[in-house]
Amino acid sequence: MPFWVSSSAAVPSLPKRKRAMSDVIALASYAADVWLPAGGGTELVSAIDGSIVATMPAEAEPTVMLDYARRVGGPALRAMTFQQRGKMLRALADALSARKDELYQLSFLTGATRGDNAFDIDGGIGTLFVYASKAKALPDTHVMLDGGREAISKGNFAGQHILAPLSGVAVHINAYNFPVWGMLEKLAPTLLAGVPAIVKPATTGAYLTAAAFRIMIDSGALPPGAVQLLLGSTGDLINQLGGQDSVAFTGSAATAAKLKANPNVIANTVRFTAEQDSLNASVLGPEVSIESPEFDLFVKEAVREITQKAGQKCTAIRRIMVSQALLEPVQQAIVARLSKTAVGDPREETTRMGALAGLPQRDDVADNVARLRGEAEVVTGGEALDLGGSLGQGAFFAPTLLRCDNPATAEMVHAVEAFGPVSTLMPYGDLDDAVALANRGLGSLAMSIFSHDPVAVAALVSGTSVFHGRIMVVDRDSAADATGHGAALPHLQHGGPGRAGGGAELGGVIGMMPYLQRTALQAAPATLDLLAGL
Ligand code: NAP
Repeated sequence: MPFWVSSSAAVPSLPKRKRAMSDVIALASYAADVWLPAGGGTELVSAIDGSIVATMPAEAEPTVMLDYARRVGGPALRAMTFQQRGKMLRALADALSARKDELYQLSFLTGATRGDNAFDIDGGIGTLFVYASKAKALPDTHVMLDGGREAISKGNFAGQHILAPLSGVAVHINAYNFPVWGMLEKLAPTLLAGVPAIVKPATTGAYLTAAAFRIMIDSGALPPGAVQLLLGSTGDLINQLGGQDSVAFTGSAATAAKLKANPNVIANTVRFTAEQDSLNASVLGPEVSIESPEFDLFVKEAVREITQKAGQKCTAIRRIMVSQALLEPVQQAIVARLSKTAVGDPREETTRMGALAGLPQRDDVADNVARLRGEAEVVTGGEALDLGGSLGQGAFFAPTLLRCDNPATAEMVHAVEAFGPVSTLMPYGDLDDAVALANRGLGSLAMSIFSHDPVAVAALVSGTSVFHGRIMVVDRDSAADATGHGAALPHLQHGGPGRAGGGAELGGVIGMMPYLQRTALQAAPATLDLLAGL
């Protein structure tokens, strides 16, 4: 057993019991405010021991859902004001908070540790709370003004942009890595905007999303048709969307490309937002030495990003960039910390890194590490872990650091996202070189800079911002309050250009934009005053 693996003999274990067949949850889709027949042919297994957790139907009937959302859900939500919808989000957040222990127990089976649960479950609920709070600053009306009044003539005529909820349905297609946050970060801005949603979770871990969804339904806080749950295949749903509908997708670039290119999506200008692959970079400033506080801060963050959620974060640091002089010291420091990372049963208090979402996902990570090995050497990890006993069936993978000595000529390290506890260390020459390397990701969700030199920070930010959706700058003065490279915050935009999909989710009102139509009104000022109160 590798030395970084937590030995169950060394740490006190929670009582474990074999899951009986009676524990298997029969999942159901939720359409037109009715739970459809539960269970079905698709078996969902635990990431930590391979036992069957749930069964779910292979597909649902999308036509009924679309019709109900447009006919019932949309009008019900649009009858509420922005502030009323904010109160609804708060009620949902309260209901989920009150029952989050139930979600934690299921979340362990996805491979997530207690710390990971805070990210996915508490983070998701927190997103609802923030949007509920943001709603207080929105008008108590059904239509929102966008910007100020424009003087477009010398006389009695002016212009004003307004924002109103689309009359269609929002289809949310989520990835497997954040079963709760992934659903809630999309629902919060959508429902606040006043648009009903059909939630299609990833099949892997769908039992956790379904549990959170059921709590929201049980809360009674939602008007009819506001949300529906589509388990399994979407069938021909995408072919039935129109110009008032939207798709918000999170997952692989390959699936995003397929859906975006759907002829119906193109013909009807269906709004499409994508969060997809991202080769996020973290750069250590060129002025930093081993003694600088930023050195340790950088190493800790790199290790946290490799191990948190077992590296299954779309925002995780995939490329660690340091000056040539610090390549060896940073490598040693990261390896030393990774060697102390206890990998094991996520239910154990002492476990720092749990399992990947499933064996297929682990195979994907192993395949991608093999591809990266063509240009980079494995410094530590790089292989699946067999933890023995019941955990022998779990999807564990060693925390992995690769090193690429020639990143300027390399291709794979800037293009292949091993969606697990994997990151590649690489040297840069000067600041221009660091900028060029960071931008080789061809569009990323998040970047971080660890530097106390304002000149270096300015050069890095101005050189890379157009390739990145979010940049976090950390130094000795801000570190204690910094929110973390990988944390997508409800207050700030989540999304990146190019390879990352070109989306913009969250960010307060920014996240509502895919669900609102901006209309330029031209009228007499008195008429505009009247319309502002709609
Ligand atoms: P995926 O295969 O693209 O699946 C993502 C979602 O799309 C799932 O809900 C999936 O449902 C659904 N889906 C797949 N094919 C579909 C189709 N033809 N029509 C409608 N929906 C469809 O991605 P994945 O394998 O789960 O995730 C892998 C990759 O996604 C990761 O390696 C990572 O690169 C990327 N990712 C990116 C982010 C981000 O925010 N940038 C986050 C997470 C993951 P089923 O599960 O039922 O197939």
